[in-house]
Amino acid sequence: MSQTSSAIFGSYVLTHREGAQEVLRDRWVLIEGRRIAAITAGKPSADRVFDRPGRFILPGLLNLHNHCFSEAVARTHTEDGHARRNNQSIVYTVLLPLSKTGTEILSPAERMAAARLGILQLLKGGVTTVMEPFRNGIPEMFDAAEAMGIRFYGAPYLFSTADAKAGSDGVVRYAGDDGQADLDAWNTLHATWHGRGEGRIRLAMSPHATDTCGPDLLRACAARARELDVPITIHLAQSDAEVATIKARCEGRSPAEYLDWLGLLAPDLLAAHCLSSSDDDLRLMAMRGATVLNCPRVFARAGRTAAFSRFAGHGIRTLVGTDGYNMDLLGELNAASMISKVTTGRADVATAPELIDSVTRNAAAAIKRPDLGTLTPGATADVTVIDLSHPHCQPLADPRRGLIALANRANVDLVMVDGRMLIDGGRYIGGDEAAITAAGAAAIQRIWDLPEARAALGDDA
Ligand SMILES: [Zn+2]
Repeated sequence: MSQTSSAIFGSYVLTHREGAQEVLRDRWVLIEGRRIAAITAGKPSADRVFDRPGRFILPGLLNLHNHCFSEAVARTHTEDGHARRNNQSIVYTVLLPLSKTGTEILSPAERMAAARLGILQLLKGGVTTVMEPFRNGIPEMFDAAEAMGIRFYGAPYLFSTADAKAGSDGVVRYAGDDGQADLDAWNTLHATWHGRGEGRIRLAMSPHATDTCGPDLLRACAARARELDVPITIHLAQSDAEVATIKARCEGRSPAEYLDWLGLLAPDLLAAHCLSSSDDDLRLMAMRGATVLNCPRVFARAGRTAAFSRFAGHGIRTLVGTDGYNMDLLGELNAASMISKVTTGRADVATAPELIDSVTRNAAAAIKRPDLGTLTPGATADVTVIDLSHPHCQPLADPRRGLIALANRANVDLVMVDGRMLIDGGRYIGGDEAAITAAGAAAIQRIWDLPEARAALGDDA
């Protein structure tokens, strides 16, 4: 890593004072090497100067639940109810089976192309850190993340039953006994990748979900994760069918009670969705200090409400991620605001400062990274700069409300990770965007062309 310095001018700079957000006006953020060096009123001397008006400088955004590969497989096939049987979840009819087949039929170069396309979208959307749960069959996610410069928490799935599929009757059948093999594979990936890219590349423990992971595997995952001090992430209560399955299988327990019984419901757990969690479950999660990863748009697509305000209102640390929908974190924040307001009938929930915290310092706290999610001297130099000078953002009284209510990912101007500028003027500067996009799309098209994909995705495949 070069020890060059950069100075970025912000008409607005998000900082914190005595625990509260504060927006400073007309400041310079000075970055030296891999660290934030200072925030100054006067122009500092630096090797590179980015002096553009109307910019809002934020800590680099953290998106702690995203699926580059399965999102691409489902993309535009699953809108407006397509590929959805009886309005049921597409997890067991499309996402799990096709992502499994896809990783098997694609060449390593094609898997790499699909991974690069996803990471390109994340970076262009202002994301500096992603937690990415994915099938073990696409280890190229790590290669792509290391090469492209994003901060990456790879979360290769572990399953007790990796081949869960819904039949034509809609009932999910669970097959396979893969727990130990998946733990062995996870350990190999950890040994290979954890700490690469000067610490940018890390692993998270990622048992897939409560219904696809049995008690022995979940206990083993928690023990190994805690031995290594890595975060644990899981899908929790993402459908009513999952709740019914766990109730029948585990002596009447809810999915949250099942995890609590096994010792997983704790501050190191990041639980995606919790859509079908009861209020009692949410109270239990709040008590245990677990984190909810709220991804409202993937459920809105299916006609379901996943309101940020419901989880936050229970006192749970609630973060916003994109799951398998559009990889657009600013769009997701806007939806989290709107869906919460519609659900509660109140305008004053899921406010801009709360939502910004959910993808900056609260997200950093959930993965025990106090050096991220903040613009303070000494912090790691992950920075996202939004251009609020666009006509659709003007006039502007409040940049935080403007960010959530008016801005979109086309307003992302600069993205820096670990002191390295990756996006400048909204463009990825580490490679040819058009070539990355074409290669990734061609790889996914190979999956779409499979007869079983055409059948799963419906007649418009
Ligand atoms: Zn997910």
